[in-house]
Amino acid sequence: MSKKPKQIQLNAIKEEIIKQNICPDLAAGATQLVFGDGNPDAEVVFIGEAPGKKEDEQGLPFVGAAGRFLDEMLTAAGLKRSDVYITNIVKYRPPNNRDPYPDEKTAFLPFLKKQLAVIKPKLIVTLGRHSMEALLPNSLRISQVHGQPKRYNGQVYLPLFHPAAALYNNGMRQTLIDDFARIPPVLALLNARSTRAGKADSTGLAKI
Ligand code: URA
Repeated sequence: MSKKPKQIQLNAIKEEIIKQNICPDLAAGATQLVFGDGNPDAEVVFIGEAPGKKEDEQGLPFVGAAGRFLDEMLTAAGLKRSDVYITNIVKYRPPNNRDPYPDEKTAFLPFLKKQLAVIKPKLIVTLGRHSMEALLPNSLRISQVHGQPKRYNGQVYLPLFHPAAALYNNGMRQTLIDDFARIPPVLALLNARSTRAGKADSTGLAKI
């Protein structure tokens, strides 16, 4: 395990993506790599799909319309962007914001896993089906599991719909707001558990 500060380890992963020329076609059409943003010591990591236009321009995840809604929900949950870490499965903007292709998600997955291994969040919140399918068993259906914390291979996940899906759909917007409100109690549960030494899994969270 590296003793280097987490930010330095994260910077090294970013450099690796560039050096290894991951998804050169995507890279050629993008302004820049959008690696991730936030606190390397965050308890919660949010994972979206891929950068859009604004993210590509600014080099930061979730800074467009979906990002503004994400910020609103963070505030409502008592979280600040600077407390959490935000990234995407695919780290270059796909042309015309098309869905990322399976081979693109596969190519970036090892780097996402390395990011998570450095940050070691208590809770991983997947935003939309792309990041959920990348990290959780693909038998899960987001329409069935959204808002339900799940333990998988020792890590706790909360699958949520993608904030962009809620922008023009009020029902979906309320669903996301309700699901998002689960984050503080889940974190409280996980923090209470980690102070009770020896109780390996007393959270009662469903395992998959
Ligand atoms: N949508 C995403 O999935 N990620 C972003 O960074 C922005 C919009």
